[in-house]
Amino acid sequence: MNGPDAETKMQFLFALRSKGVTDRRVLAAMEEVDRGLFVRGLFAERAYEDMPLPIACGQTISQPSVVGLMTQALEVHPRDKVLEVGTGSGYQAAILAKLARRVYTVDRHARLVREAQALFQRLQLVNITTMTADGSFGLPDQAPFDRIIVTAAAEDAPGPLLAQLKIGGIMVLPVGQSDTVQTLIRVRRLETGFEYDELRPVRFVPLLEGLGKDG
Ligand code: SAH
Repeated sequence: MNGPDAETKMQFLFALRSKGVTDRRVLAAMEEVDRGLFVRGLFAERAYEDMPLPIACGQTISQPSVVGLMTQALEVHPRDKVLEVGTGSGYQAAILAKLARRVYTVDRHARLVREAQALFQRLQLVNITTMTADGSFGLPDQAPFDRIIVTAAAEDAPGPLLAQLKIGGIMVLPVGQSDTVQTLIRVRRLETGFEYDELRPVRFVPLLEGLGKDG
């Protein structure tokens, strides 16, 4: 495992900071997790650029600055139990694993879950539990969660996920009517209901129903 050289790493972290990722714990976690391990084949050499890149099953690994901004907005504490919907490459889950007590991550593509799990083992990220499932329904057996992050876009925050958020909990997710115009939002669960904040425009792959074809 080589990882990026010092210059590349410095540029990677500089790009994150210049896009607004300022939380020191988030930056430290992103410095520790080598994005190059989560991107394969032709695109591997572009792993340290601030760009989304294609992964297996027609999906994408998100842009590093978006990963950073979402993680920052999630305000993860060391004792938190976090649910991620949309494992993809596993990159976001690996960063969450550095910040939280336990991470549950689900994807509808069994192949992506298998490959991410192999990486988590290799990196000794023992506090991540992977699962192949339609994450729109959350994980009722493990609920409630302190934090929920969704890395695929739905029209609205899925009801089961809202229901599985603890009071005082935070969920960060992209919502939007189309594949091109989406907004990243943060939902806080209060004693009396939910508070919504719009964070910024984003572009994610859609949250789809059921399991992927390889599942
Ligand atoms: N967080 C990922 C990027 C995810 S791309 C990373 O760090 O690389 C979005 C992922 O959401 C895709 O892998 C897609 O298969 C998954 N997805 C889409 N709809 C889903 C659903 N209903 N349940 C679970 N996963 C879903």
